[in-house]
Amino acid sequence: MDTQKKSPRIFSFEFFPPRNDEGQGKLHETIQQLGQLRPKFFSVTFGAGGSTRAGTYETVKQIHALGHQAAPHISCIGTSRADVLALLDSYRQLGIRHLVALRGDLPRDAPKTGDFDFANELVAFIRAETGNEFTIEVAAYPEFHPEASSAQDDIRHFADKIKAGANSAITQYFFDVDAYWRFLDDCESLGVDVPIVPGVMPITNYKQLARFSDACGAEIPRWIRRRLEGFGDDLDSLRAFGLDVTTELCDRLLSGGVPGLHFYTLNRAGPTCTIWERLGL
Ligand code: FAD
Repeated sequence: MDTQKKSPRIFSFEFFPPRNDEGQGKLHETIQQLGQLRPKFFSVTFGAGGSTRAGTYETVKQIHALGHQAAPHISCIGTSRADVLALLDSYRQLGIRHLVALRGDLPRDAPKTGDFDFANELVAFIRAETGNEFTIEVAAYPEFHPEASSAQDDIRHFADKIKAGANSAITQYFFDVDAYWRFLDDCESLGVDVPIVPGVMPITNYKQLARFSDACGAEIPRWIRRRLEGFGDDLDSLRAFGLDVTTELCDRLLSGGVPGLHFYTLNRAGPTCTIWERLGL
């Protein structure tokens, strides 16, 4: 844990590429609102929510044009080395020097294609081809990736991404702070000393949260799940409780010396701004 206290805190916000003009207009407002909080960067997911590579590129361009640092996510599954090089080149031309390098989710029932199997190979490839031109973030899973053969293997595979040249990591969201502290200790014992920034999911919608959590393996503690279920259609109470829980989580993390926070904003400024104000950041 001590290694995490060395670096200055990094705050960042994540978006997904909007699917239509209306979404793009709303995102413009969100960027302007969250931009006032002066995050280190805004990251933009790749391929998530049915969006395309072009969607990620356009959103990155939009953020960059508004004067903020953008970090596109790049996933490597099903991708060729030539495709990755072309993508890096397009970002280089835009002035982007920050990436989130991922494997991406495996396509269902489809045969393996592409030149990469795991994210550490993508990180090594980007480093070999571009040296230190890009700052590279990778994903970390304090409650372990759903496909991991064991917790120990997953931590070793995470360390491989850092050894391949990643500068820092962003975690999957979690609600169990102890899982994160223990993960940090295990990483430290493997010689990992880069910032591992907790990913934070503001709770505002129970069904959506349950769906995401089932898919990505982030556990919602029973007491939180039961309370959220109990609110039913009373969305105001649900949001009030959700924001209390998320703020308290961030507060405990910051008090414990985390190297920053990465908010999964779902393209909305309100919940993140509220948590930010309550934390007095
Ligand atoms: P890896 O680090 O490659 O790990 C994937 C699995 O393979 C793990 O179980 C790991 O233990 C195992 N593994 C790794 N190396 C080996 C090896 N050598 N041998 C055997 N097993 C191995 N998805 C998107 O589609 N688009 C996004 O924009 C996106 N953004 C994300 C951002 C963050 C911060 C996070 C936490 C996740 C994001 N995801 C995104 C989800 C992510 O793509 C999935 O979780 C994906 O299944 C794994 O990607 P990874 O980069 O963690 O993969």
